[in-house]
Amino acid sequence: MNRETKIISSENVIDAANSIKCGGLVVFPTETVYGLGADALNPKACMDIFKAKGRPADNPLIVHIADVGSLKDLAKEIPDEAKVLMDRFWPGPLTMIFKKKDSVCDTVTAGLKTVAVRFPSNETAIELIKNSTGFIAAPSANLSGSPSPTSIVHVTDDMMGRVDYIIDDEGCEIGIESTVLDVSGDVFKILRPGAVTFDDIHNVIGDKIEDIPVAKNVSVPQCPGMKYTHYSPKADVTVVCGSNEATSEYILNILRSNNNEKIGILSYGSDLFDDAYCVIDAGCDMREYAKGLYYNLREFDRLGVDKIYAQFCLEEGIGIAVKNRLFKSAGNDIIYV
Ligand code: AMP
Ligand code: MG
Repeated sequence: MNRETKIISSENVIDAANSIKCGGLVVFPTETVYGLGADALNPKACMDIFKAKGRPADNPLIVHIADVGSLKDLAKEIPDEAKVLMDRFWPGPLTMIFKKKDSVCDTVTAGLKTVAVRFPSNETAIELIKNSTGFIAAPSANLSGSPSPTSIVHVTDDMMGRVDYIIDDEGCEIGIESTVLDVSGDVFKILRPGAVTFDDIHNVIGDKIEDIPVAKNVSVPQCPGMKYTHYSPKADVTVVCGSNEATSEYILNILRSNNNEKIGILSYGSDLFDDAYCVIDAGCDMREYAKGLYYNLREFDRLGVDKIYAQFCLEEGIGIAVKNRLFKSAGNDIIYV
């Protein structure tokens, strides 16, 4: 595990690309979260991703490409509707799962017959992929179970000494991981909600995407990876769902009856929590909530908070993805008021 980690700027992306070609591990920015990449064509290098993260081996990796033409080397079949989605959403935060070609190694797919593929839009990510082997397998660059990193501080907290290069560059403007859409069956299904929403996809391909609520869809583990995602900070998280008034009242009552606990509040639309140990504003809409979510959860840990109460109201659009991550970070600690 002991690697000498070099932190570089995007100007030196070629050094990192060369490292990938030689079997190295590189943390790079994307528009969603930081990725921990290795050559997807090198099973030993991909195995090292699992070691660096402490990730269970049955949780598959996403292969990142930098041109649509590369997909034919990975996917056995590319449905016409998937091509339409690529035209519309690639490069961008949409991962699609295809039936895999035999050449895609089991380490990447965790033994599944399918492969997950994404074409990210971040310029540095694209340069890295193009200048390495053209195929970079990458999960998020956090230790397994922790919130994904969206800032360089959180990348170095988790990955110093575990990877060869960290590219310190702008990115992560979305803040949560890509939408994962399974296009390997007769109907398409969202396995993990993200910034590209059910409605976005339905608007393009109609009923080819199965019309079941995403939240229900993802509560049932449909692939090995899904059971492992926790996104949890060290502090206990409780999500309080409901109207602004009701959630504020609930949290104020908690603060009034609190004795010695260091309580942190992730507030959404309320500035009433003066008595809390610390308050972080989640933002003014669900896009901002998503963008700051992982940063904020880790910030509570840095501030030594014992318990986090997150104020949340049920929303549409990217709010569905925020709900998915927030609820998992809270385990079953969800309160509806
Ligand atoms: P991460 O990049 O850490 O957010 O993890 C990658 C996500 O993609 C995990 O949730 C995996 O379960 C999912 N994934 C990757 N490949 C597949 C696949 N072939 N089938 C289903 N899900 C996949
Ligand atoms: Mg992850």
